Amino acid sequence: MVKIALAGNPNCGKTMLFNALTGSNQYVGNWAGVTVEAKEGRLKGEKDVIIADLPGIYSLSPYTPEEVVARNYLVNEEPDVILNIIDGTNLERNLYLTTQLCEIGIPVVMAINMIDIVKRNGDIINTEEISEHFGCVCFEISALKGTGVKKCAKKAVELARNNRGIPPIHHSFDDRVESAVHFISAILPSGTDMLHKRYYATKIFERDSIVSAEFPECASLAESLIKDIEKYYDDDSESIIADQRYRYITKCIDECRVKSGKTPVSEKIDRIVTNKYLSLPIFAAVMFGVYYVSVTTFGGALSDIIVEKIYGENGFSFIVSNLLDAVNCAPWLKGLITDGIIAGVGSVLSFVPQIFVLFVFLSFLEDCGYMSRIAFIMDKLFRKFGLSGKSFIPILVGTGCGVPGIMSSRTIENESERRMTVITTTFIPCGAKLPVISLFASSLFGGAWWVAPSAYFTGIAAIITSGIILKKTKPFYSKPSPFVMELPPYHMPSVKSVARATTDRTLSYIKKAGTVILLASCAVWFLSNFGFYGGRFGMVMNMDNSVLAYFGNIIDVIFSPLGFGTWQASVATLLGLAAKEEIVGVFGVLYNSIGEGFNQLSGYSFLMFNLLCAPCIAAMSAIRKEMNSAKWTFFAIAYQCSFAYCVSLCIYQTGLALQTGRIGAGLICAALIFAFFVYMLLKKPYQMKYELLQNRTHK
Ligand code: GDP
Ligand code: MG
Repeated sequence: MVKIALAGNPNCGKTMLFNALTGSNQYVGNWAGVTVEAKEGRLKGEKDVIIADLPGIYSLSPYTPEEVVARNYLVNEEPDVILNIIDGTNLERNLYLTTQLCEIGIPVVMAINMIDIVKRNGDIINTEEISEHFGCVCFEISALKGTGVKKCAKKAVELARNNRGIPPIHHSFDDRVESAVHFISAILPSGTDMLHKRYYATKIFERDSIVSAEFPECASLAESLIKDIEKYYDDDSESIIADQRYRYITKCIDECRVKSGKTPVSEKIDRIVTNKYLSLPIFAAVMFGVYYVSVTTFGGALSDIIVEKIYGENGFSFIVSNLLDAVNCAPWLKGLITDGIIAGVGSVLSFVPQIFVLFVFLSFLEDCGYMSRIAFIMDKLFRKFGLSGKSFIPILVGTGCGVPGIMSSRTIENESERRMTVITTTFIPCGAKLPVISLFASSLFGGAWWVAPSAYFTGIAAIITSGIILKKTKPFYSKPSPFVMELPPYHMPSVKSVARATTDRTLSYIKKAGTVILLASCAVWFLSNFGFYGGRFGMVMNMDNSVLAYFGNIIDVIFSPLGFGTWQASVATLLGLAAKEEIVGVFGVLYNSIGEGFNQLSGYSFLMFNLLCAPCIAAMSAIRKEMNSAKWTFFAIAYQCSFAYCVSLCIYQTGLALQTGRIGAGLICAALIFAFFVYMLLKKPYQMKYELLQNRTHK
């Protein structure tokens, strides 16, 4: 059994190569921080070769949790070969990591990826020269197009199978630093793994906290030597090393690469797309288009066809019902099958086309590189409010599904910013919320164009408002962390990878319909058709006498001020916590059309509440995992629910007052809440005591 680890900077194409080599189907997105855990798979056609996809790293000095994952894997799991993926359009930054990978003591194979873009830009990279400089084989590949991938993998496997001891290091530091590194590796405790000696020594020289803590004696012995060298260069040891690495790389690149000097196409597109004035309108238009097409026009039309096939004249439901009559099926069982299962699961399934179309768009936007521009554009906007655009990436991922969205908050170093992002990520409508939006848009608003996009933009507004407000409180106070985002070059996504991502996400939606939704629909049907009536337990004629109505009636007072204080709406909200699309399932079982329970105003209020309140159970457990604290998880859920409650209350009460012309207690409450929000938005930011002191002394 041999192990090959894929290592490289974020967004250099590791996962895409991993998928190509293993035939697996991991999430590929055109920005940093998509992969946050190490994933292993088997090389296609070679049973005994394991390939590991690692989170992206810029160096072996990790800052964020997922960088630690990658480094620990490389050093502790001892892969037989490191396959270093290098983004050919950004050699400088990528080779910086290579210099460090070569020091670990494990053979390295270099794969210069994105060669299709390099060629398109007219640049030439001399891989043989690079090979000589770094002392390891180097290939040109394109994970996207599949060129060079097989050859490169074959070489890596070959190296892994006949591993010939510690590979020699080709690049070196200057004499002064080099002798210090030699000294440190000589005083490392005798049991130390020979392989990693040079790596440990350089890390101790850089005063890397983790490695220094592993070898405390050695680190303290080296301290005076390190200090001397720092004095000589008038710089700290970490920068000395970094500086010398970069010098080496610059020299190497000068010799190995010829630039054409053309302006890359990506830059031309970015001049428009990230333009100061145009960027936000373009973003709004794009997202508007995505929701409009997937919910209202194209996706909606496809859904109508499915609805017709299920419920229409001579539709599936009709056929099944006739069939059951023919076999003299018991009425309760027929009810369960047609009014429970087919109504519940069917209504969730009827949204598959819309979900599918949405996912096609999202996968395309993610893969072509536009989504990373949005984070960049948003950074400029967020910064004005003291937020960082880094928080926007989880939100982009969350548009597909909240769970990976919440997980990708791991790339945020700053603890309070990370918590804030975890709390607000699920405000963005995920794929599972789309059916709910669509159901209300079509049944109550006649498919009005603005309803679906308004859900998305309310989500963004909720995130920005919450960000601003939370940032002003002490637990969330922090300076916005710097956000250096590189804009990856645009490219036309391969049909295969978009298709893969889309079918994957759609299938998981369908799978949920066959499991969670199926069970829930049966439960809802039983509970809404059985109850105590006239002192006896049994099937009830009127659902209002059912067990479900009994329980729904206990909690529905909570929602009365929001305009949907019915037991049906309460049950739907509650079951929406299992999976958001179950809201659609519940209404499928309980109503013939949701017009029976809602008018436009209460429907919109219901929709907003369910979009913003606590997410589904899977997302809640992701929050629990990322927060790693019961207290913070509780806070997150409480905050989401209260925020949703306030928003819905304001919408419903204001709408009601406008409709009836009456001013009541409800409107006053709404006004007070609104005033509180405005106050929090305008309030001076929280400042740490010492900062206030500093400001005073400066004045
Ligand atoms: P990772 O962060 O290193 O795992 O990178 P991903 O595998 O998620 O890929 C990042 C982006 O680069 C995606 O948008 C890919 O479609 C794109 N990509 C990967 N390899 C290539 C390639 O060879 N050529 C081009 N043009 N794009 C690529
Ligand atoms: Mg990845």
